[in-house]
Amino acid sequence: MKFANIGGRAHLIAAGLCFDLEQASAGRFSPDPQAIYARWDELTDWTAGRDLGDGRPFRTEELLTPVPMPRQVFAIGLNYRAHADEAEVEPPKEPMVFTKYASSLTGPTGSVALTSTSVDWEIELVVVIGRTARSVPAGRAWEYVAGLTVGQDLSDRERQFTDSPPQFSLAKSAPGFSPVGPYVVGTGDVPDPDDLALECSVNGEVMQRDRTSSMLFGVGELIARLSRVLPLLPGDLLFTGTPAGVGLGRTPRRFLRPGDRLVSRIEGVGEMAHTMTDIDAADSVSQEAPVMADAVHARGGRS
Ligand code: ZN
Repeated sequence: MKFANIGGRAHLIAAGLCFDLEQASAGRFSPDPQAIYARWDELTDWTAGRDLGDGRPFRTEELLTPVPMPRQVFAIGLNYRAHADEAEVEPPKEPMVFTKYASSLTGPTGSVALTSTSVDWEIELVVVIGRTARSVPAGRAWEYVAGLTVGQDLSDRERQFTDSPPQFSLAKSAPGFSPVGPYVVGTGDVPDPDDLALECSVNGEVMQRDRTSSMLFGVGELIARLSRVLPLLPGDLLFTGTPAGVGLGRTPRRFLRPGDRLVSRIEGVGEMAHTMTDIDAADSVSQEAPVMADAVHARGGRS
């Protein structure tokens, strides 16, 4: 199952067509794309083998982030050994956790305004929680996952390392710094959720290429350790860390520039493409606002 947010409304994607979920379900499910994660099991049962009726073709540019208003966003630092090596730090013995504030979320296409000359790319597998998880053992953690999506953990290195110790959350949360999409793909619909190829390129040049099986703490272990401390809630996001190949680790260092085209892709999950703009460009931030506004509108329409 593929789930998407089109025009602020929940949609299912099948055979290249999109289906408005509220219409296809005759009102059983809300149009609010964030609300669906609390009923993910029910949605999975309902869609199994069902004829969704009349779908329509859609353009990639219509897709907004499929998880527009998560209650919690977790992100993991230094979760691939080769990335820890290029950052010249010891791999952590416990997952290194920070957040990306929800206002930084944006969809799978469009532009992102650069906040400095040191904004870096970080492709990451993003896990979407589908059931409340408390003290879940690693071996059962996937049962609490709704699906997977592609993420970028865009990072302003200047802000991140302006002092010691460094600070992560603010440096990674400017508007548009958390692209997520294009779909949430059910875990049953990817080849092996613990071993997916991920790749990111700038202007066609591959910068990062690895497999999620290289994570120091895999998805099961991350959910187990986080859920021991606090509950993970339906619709929460978990950015699972980035492999080697970020601009900070290159010699010479290389960062995103206005006009750069950043493409992020994960096997069986999907692809996103973003164009970087100058912070002063007139339309640079306006791309981000509709994602949140549409989600609010959809919620207002429901109640
Ligand atoms: Zn990251």
